[in-house]
Amino acid sequence: MKWTVGIDIGSVSTKAVLFNGEQVDSKIIPSGWSPSQAGQEVLERLLKPQELTRDDISLLVGTGYGRIQQGMFDKTFSEITCHARGVHYLLPEACGLIDIGGQDSKVIGFGEKGKVEDFVLNDKCAAGTGRFLQVTAQTLGLEVSQLSDLAKDADPADINSMCAVFAESEMIGLLAQGITIESIVAGLLKSIAKRISVMAGKIHFQDTVAFCGGVAQNQVLKDLLSQEIGCRLAVPPSPQAVGALGAAILGYEL
Ligand code: ADP
Repeated sequence: MKWTVGIDIGSVSTKAVLFNGEQVDSKIIPSGWSPSQAGQEVLERLLKPQELTRDDISLLVGTGYGRIQQGMFDKTFSEITCHARGVHYLLPEACGLIDIGGQDSKVIGFGEKGKVEDFVLNDKCAAGTGRFLQVTAQTLGLEVSQLSDLAKDADPADINSMCAVFAESEMIGLLAQGITIESIVAGLLKSIAKRISVMAGKIHFQDTVAFCGGVAQNQVLKDLLSQEIGCRLAVPPSPQAVGALGAAILGYEL
């Protein structure tokens, strides 16, 4: 049997997918300070339960910012190529995708058969990325996974700062004025949705758009983003591992 593995070494988490014509298993671990160590560790955790070794893998494909300067991969592809392939496999009806990860966000428009036609990337600024949510959660003494539930029924506060650093001080100012944490979090999520919708406005989406990356697990943000963009957003299963899945599929197809 032909086995391939895709590994996406991101700024926050490292994802791995085992593929043999279909997705067999996936693993997600924190990237920590050493991308190469994270890559090796996630591979071991993926293969061991399947009683496979590196020699059983026909092609080990890398993606993500940590793929650079790695001796471990047989082949590497850009995150854009891998995300597009992963989304097209999981949601063939999607006309594009929005990926919000730990330190960047990207919006990709597809042509025929999920081919990348156009994309917009933000990797220069923390606003509109998972980093913004991590700073928010940290400032409020919460976990990122709690933000959605907290904001669910709240009236969003007006957050004017588009910059993560200024937003943090604005947040503290609003707390001092007696604005509830729930409203502040809802306001911050709205500001991310607005920022991403500006990027998405450059790609002409018509129909279903896939929403992936770790931040896609935030349901309130998904709803706000869908309203801002005016398109249906579909979150694939395991939205964080879509790039790794795409890498594994691209390897399988070589
Ligand atoms: P990267 O590929 O850059 O490592 P990921 O796609 O793995 O990024 O996403 C990491 C981001 O996902 C974190 O910065 C965090 O904000 C967000 N995140 C992680 N878990 C959750 C969750 N349960 N709900 C919402 N956001 C989350």
